Amino acid sequence: MPPEMDDVVNLCKRRGFVFPSAEIYGGFRSTYDYGPLGVLMLRNVKDAWWRTMVQLRDDVVGLDAAILSSPRIWAASGHLTTFTDPLVDCRNCKERWRADHLEPDPEDGAVHCPNCGSTDLTEPRSFNLMFKTYVGPVEDDASVAYLRPETAQGQFVNFLNVLQTSRKRPPFGIAQIGKSFRNEITPGNFVFRTREFEQMELEFFVPPSEADRWFEYWCRERLEWYVKLGIPQDQLRLRPHAQEELSHYSSATADVEFSFPWGWGELEGIANRTDFDLRAHAEASGERLDYLDQTTGERYVPYVIEPAAGATRTMMAFLIAAYDTDEIGGEPRTVLRLDHRLAPYQVAVLPLSRKDTLVPTAREVLGLLQPLVMCDYDETQSIGRRYRRQDEIGTPLCVTIDFDTLDDREVTIRDRDTTQQSRVPIDKLVEEIKGRLVL
Ligand code: ATP
Repeated sequence: MPPEMDDVVNLCKRRGFVFPSAEIYGGFRSTYDYGPLGVLMLRNVKDAWWRTMVQLRDDVVGLDAAILSSPRIWAASGHLTTFTDPLVDCRNCKERWRADHLEPDPEDGAVHCPNCGSTDLTEPRSFNLMFKTYVGPVEDDASVAYLRPETAQGQFVNFLNVLQTSRKRPPFGIAQIGKSFRNEITPGNFVFRTREFEQMELEFFVPPSEADRWFEYWCRERLEWYVKLGIPQDQLRLRPHAQEELSHYSSATADVEFSFPWGWGELEGIANRTDFDLRAHAEASGERLDYLDQTTGERYVPYVIEPAAGATRTMMAFLIAAYDTDEIGGEPRTVLRLDHRLAPYQVAVLPLSRKDTLVPTAREVLGLLQPLVMCDYDETQSIGRRYRRQDEIGTPLCVTIDFDTLDDREVTIRDRDTTQQSRVPIDKLVEEIKGRLVL
């Protein structure tokens, strides 16, 4: 049973994953802040992506490009003219909607305002999604800059820099994680669609003749990444785009979709961007953005296969997929069955009581584990309540120090999913934790 969206949103607020931004001022237009647990989990999502996409490969390098960017980039990429959504206004209640998100009513065939039900909607008009700002003290046309709406252009405009400095050659990729900004008309569904969000994008440059093969390869790889990190296969699907749905730069796209409580939604788009971007930037900048294959003497503009995922949206999908409720000893509990690589804390260190006698040993254990994994330390409330709290935030293992520990130097390890407990000597604790968390 998938959880209700409200359950997940409440847990996020209650436990410190995600807070509405500027909450003391009544919030600020679908922006969110990541709290003490959210920042850990979001970092883990990004680290898991980086590990798979960069660390475990020898054909991908990283990049961290500027967010504030030259209008020339967005003129060349086509975003200034085509990165638009069709906007309609409801003349009755004044709400604004994306025309492509409104479905005709099956009964009367008319399009109704989702807010007030009126059919008095304006004709769609194009609305550019890029945030515009000014660099320096003067607000004139010469000082216009844009907040990037995708990280990908950073990879394209640095193609030559990376090629010349990294000793890579196609097929090779440039990976980047960072914030992107889109002035979405209808943000919503919690952090699913926000105006400020984080992306994880790979631009993989290949010889044109190999593009189809690499597109298939990355579709498979990316779908598998979510499964390996714990999203059940039946909650995921790969949906190829129909021809008319394709972006202006793409010859083929498939989305990795997750079954959200409100229906299927995109986590990641995998696109064959062809040589569109490199050619566009070559033409606009006058630089030659191609590759000379020294062995064959052939010069070509690489095609680009792009797996583009959202870090914030993906974190939310992992939370929803992990959310579960069960009963332990007749008591209901909420448990986040997160993969240990994504959980905010891998281990919680819990002295059975706050008495002075247990605390030094508990702190000794904490000191042993902190260099290894992210630990929580909690010494107040009954042990049962502390276990429930750790279950609810997804901590896979609790290590409890009790009065016997003072005699036998053994601690109890409790497993989140099975709630089974076992005793382990402190001397063997690091090895045991490493084994259980496959570090
Ligand atoms: P949509 O159709 O939902 O607007 P898109 O197809 O425009 O998304 P892409 O440009 O392919 O999205 O961006 C790649 C990924 O970035 C998306 O799959 C999503 O995970 C993430 N993303 C895009 N827009 C947003 C947003 N407004 N809020 C959160 N994540 C986003």
